[in-house]
Amino acid sequence: MHRPASATVDWKALREDFPILRERVHGRPLIYFDNAATTQKPRPMLEILRQYYEHTNANVHRGLHELSSRATEAYERARQRVADYLGAANAEEIVFTRGTTESINLVAQAWGGKFVRADDVILLTEMEHHSNLVPWQLLAERIGARLRFVPVKDDGTLELERLPALLTPEVKLFGFTHVSNSLGTINPVRELCEKAHAVGALTLVDGAQSAGHMPVDMQELGCDFYAFSGHKMCAPTGIGALYAHAEVLDSIPPWHGGGEMIVSVMLEKSAFKKPPHRFEAGTPKIAGAIGLAAAIDYLENIGRAAIFEHDAELTSYAVERMRELPGMRLFGPRGERGAIVGFVMNAAHPHDLTTFADQQGVALRGGHHCNQPLMRRFGVPGTTRASFYFYNTKEEIDRMIDILGDAVRFFS
Ligand code: PMP
Repeated sequence: MHRPASATVDWKALREDFPILRERVHGRPLIYFDNAATTQKPRPMLEILRQYYEHTNANVHRGLHELSSRATEAYERARQRVADYLGAANAEEIVFTRGTTESINLVAQAWGGKFVRADDVILLTEMEHHSNLVPWQLLAERIGARLRFVPVKDDGTLELERLPALLTPEVKLFGFTHVSNSLGTINPVRELCEKAHAVGALTLVDGAQSAGHMPVDMQELGCDFYAFSGHKMCAPTGIGALYAHAEVLDSIPPWHGGGEMIVSVMLEKSAFKKPPHRFEAGTPKIAGAIGLAAAIDYLENIGRAAIFEHDAELTSYAVERMRELPGMRLFGPRGERGAIVGFVMNAAHPHDLTTFADQQGVALRGGHHCNQPLMRRFGVPGTTRASFYFYNTKEEIDRMIDILGDAVRFFS
């Protein structure tokens, strides 16, 4: 008998690993549906952070003492862990950063600064988070390059029919999100990368909403850059990474200057380390990287395929139940999607609805979700967003539906 991977996991028991889920908010039990913004942190990861600070803490790479060697080893082991998790060819393809935003800025400034010329084109999509728009706008303005955008259809998917006209040889890079943080759309990464490579463009995938939610393998996806944030996958804030294909990374000059990234420094000139250290100036987020590796261990223990399946089950249950509510407009594709449901209700403005839910202990998010152009595309000032993770339950979704039903009565 086919037994879905997710059926073998005791999801309710996993909730016990997240102390915050027992928190009360405004006197009600917390229901945390703001996972696309950041996820909660499991005890095993927190324990590793505590152990690190109690037994290992020292600066990395430059100390000739025992604690520094331990810290360096743990930090570099964490890099290997990220490389394995992403299916990178080796640890040198992983640059630690503060997260998705910093990773994309690194590419736009350091790679873009060297390889993009006036009139070259950066192709993006209309569904990009501001962090995959603004760094390219800054580059385009500085260099005189042009930006183009793949439009989004009413159903929340990309208008791929337009690609042949948009993806021309002037395009130097095609950057797009793996999973939309407002619509839940899952983009066909491999197909998009193949098409971009066919015209000689590099590809950048914004993995903020995919890295912690599904199996992700660089060899399968075939992208040149993949950016993600640890805090959206059970790790601490302030740590994330940029994956870049070794050849590409080798060709990029440094972007931040300082300690750690040099081989030798003279007063007027310096020689730089090879990647990835060339891109990690100053004391890195050592504990963060170790916490990220611990979060990866935690997620791998559950299994990313199982997490994806469980996410999908919760999301389709939520979508089905939300359709029951009067005056409900749901955004995003009907088929397979990430664990994100954006919606607008006739009864109330997204901010009022979100505040109403908060009073009942339900953490939703209301606003433009750093997707202002996408909101404009759909003719709304913003949406309310419920986003799920593996520790959420159908009972929590039922409770949200009751509260949204109450909101309809309250506001009308
Ligand atoms: N891209 C997407 C799709 C996101 O959802 C987010 C976070 N909301 C980001 C980029 C930015 O991530 P961070 O703030 O962690 O850099």
